[in-house]
Amino acid sequence: MPDLPVPELLELDRRHVWHPYGPMPGRVEPLVVEAASGVRLRLADGSGELVDGMASWWSAIHGYNHPVLNEAAREQLGRMSHVMFGGLTHEPAVRLAKLLVDMSPDGLEHVFLADSGSVSVEVAVKMCLQYWRSLGRTGKQRLLTWRGGYHGDTWQPMSVCDPEGGMHELWSGVLPRQVFVDAPPAEYEEAYAESLRAAIAEHADELAAVIVEPVVQGAGGMRFHSPAYLRVLREACDAHDVLLVFDEIATGFGRTGALFAAEHAAVAPDVMCVGKALTGGYLTMAATLCTARVADGISRGEVPVLAHGPTFMGNPLAASVACASIELLLGQDWLAEVKRIEAGLREGLAPARDLPGVRDVRVLGAIGVVQLDHAVDMKAATDAAVREGVWLRPFRDLIYTMPPYVTGDGDVARIARAVCAAAREG
Ligand code: PMP
Repeated sequence: MPDLPVPELLELDRRHVWHPYGPMPGRVEPLVVEAASGVRLRLADGSGELVDGMASWWSAIHGYNHPVLNEAAREQLGRMSHVMFGGLTHEPAVRLAKLLVDMSPDGLEHVFLADSGSVSVEVAVKMCLQYWRSLGRTGKQRLLTWRGGYHGDTWQPMSVCDPEGGMHELWSGVLPRQVFVDAPPAEYEEAYAESLRAAIAEHADELAAVIVEPVVQGAGGMRFHSPAYLRVLREACDAHDVLLVFDEIATGFGRTGALFAAEHAAVAPDVMCVGKALTGGYLTMAATLCTARVADGISRGEVPVLAHGPTFMGNPLAASVACASIELLLGQDWLAEVKRIEAGLREGLAPARDLPGVRDVRVLGAIGVVQLDHAVDMKAATDAAVREGVWLRPFRDLIYTMPPYVTGDGDVARIARAVCAAAREG
């Protein structure tokens, strides 16, 4: 099907295509993928296939070209690929909302279907700010979060990303001014918990919500922390009239060894964002869930609607694939698969501990991370992984993998070898 010769395609790409986080015109030559199936990406230059250690930015949990997801998309395409969602509804969206409510932590009852993780965080923030305005507590319009987080690339999410040395530092003077506390330590420390309580108490009058990535801070640094901090947040938020938002966009749908990372602590947020693996990485969709308390509060306001409704909200094609993806996940022993990958990564990444320049090796669920004591040489590290037949996308001082759950043992071992090779050469 693609009949542009690869060199010509790359030249046009360099001239015209703006890649995520890329300069314009592009300086780094990307690999051209012509097809993907299972856990393998097939390259257009004829050099063969790569095992995908990234699951397309952590979303393709069932792998590519999956017959069940293909069929859901095909079937829905024959009905309608899109229809406006204002004043109309459809079965894929309704079924998806019900599935999400049933599988999510207790109390989350209402679902806003957005088209990307960043937008689902925008919606979450809007919900929280509007909730307090509706109740007449107009001073409560700020957010508290911990440093080292990442919540997306649109305006409000950027304001709660890591403010120091993070991707959005450029905008630090103009973004909404939020309250930052230190990132949580890996293990539970009472002194840190106390500092969290104190910060929430101190800023309670101006805080609409606390927003955090539970258990794993992803794109901000691939750090893991004790789930016990989530209970501390829940209690402090309840004590001081502050809403609690969990951004489960990276952690949701089993990635950490629980369906949602909040389950590790048995706490439920007031608002929860999901995305990435929601459609098994097939289509662009995310969701913001909230409790009846939040929805009722908003509907009691002077403006009793959530004023958010861009054109492609509630897309039926994406919703239909999301339903199939969730049913596929829940219909299998997904935990056994995630644990199997966890065991494979623990074993395969252990040798990285002895490599020079390696600061830390950590594994949780289907997430494996090697942290260096220096900034990674992206090109050298990526090339080393490609030579091992694996696709990785290192950043900052991190080489990591979040593979599809269908990655077989041999391929998990291969990914781990590639991570070690990248750590050695990057
Ligand atoms: N929140 C978290 C925790 C994420 O990991 C990401 C994406 N890396 C986002 C939000 C933004 O999602 P999206 O890229 O779909 O806009």
